[in-house]
Amino acid sequence: LEAQLFRAQRLESIGTLASGIAHDLNNILTPILAGAQLLPLKFPHADERTLHLLEILEINARRGADLVKQVLSFARGVEGKHITLQMRHLIVEVAKILKETFPKSIEVSIDVPHELWMVSGDSTQLHQVLMNLCVNARDAMPNGGKLTISAQNLLIDENYARMNLEANVGPYVVMTISDTGVGISGEILDRIFEPFFTTKPVGQGTGLGLSTVIGIIKSHGGFVDVRSEVGSGTYFQVYLPAVGGTETLYTEELVPLTGHGE
Ligand code: ADP
Repeated sequence: LEAQLFRAQRLESIGTLASGIAHDLNNILTPILAGAQLLPLKFPHADERTLHLLEILEINARRGADLVKQVLSFARGVEGKHITLQMRHLIVEVAKILKETFPKSIEVSIDVPHELWMVSGDSTQLHQVLMNLCVNARDAMPNGGKLTISAQNLLIDENYARMNLEANVGPYVVMTISDTGVGISGEILDRIFEPFFTTKPVGQGTGLGLSTVIGIIKSHGGFVDVRSEVGSGTYFQVYLPAVGGTETLYTEELVPLTGHGE
């Protein structure tokens, strides 16, 4: 218990330190990014090499800004605006983005029933959860492969709840994000949810993706499960409590508009 407390305190100080640095870095990056965006507009006839350098400057300043944003949103913790929502809409929306932005060598497919139960959640945060998991899946498949997002209803019974302390008896919506990528070895698997743990090269990974996922899902009363086999792939399962009792589970018609059309 003492070790746990120590760990929690250490993580808290890391968070405070990181958000302090992130704030300062943000102030430094803002004029750099603005300059890199403005200069090509002011000097449209500059030589190609100069324009190219400015482009590189902009891309990297933006990358830095994204990193800062991730650190800040992580350190700020998670406090969302919860509404009743249909995860199928979010999944469809995410799949659309993936199909447009991921390399063509990655085949994206979804498998979600129409009668998926509703959950109570923050759509921006849950969107982030799906994106973080899918970006990891993409990074695990540098030579291409299959990325599948599926979802199903699950009624957790007493036996299950007894075996998994994070689970409660009742209805859940389970989302599975699976890839056919490199997989995760045992010793790394133990650490992937730690903040700042990454195996990616500097500049490409912050190590905050999965700890953000866990933070968000815990604040939704859910939990996350991961299975992986080196060389064949990984799947992450996200469990979110469904809204209402089993008899009163909402069907889609009763749902307030969430702004996520298909
Ligand atoms: P980051 O993506 O910035 O490294 P994450 O917290 O999202 O941070 O992930 C931590 C690490 O977990 C990754 O660096 C990678 O080693 C491992 N990982 C996560 N998802 C997968 C996956 N789908 N396949 C293989 N490894 C993964």
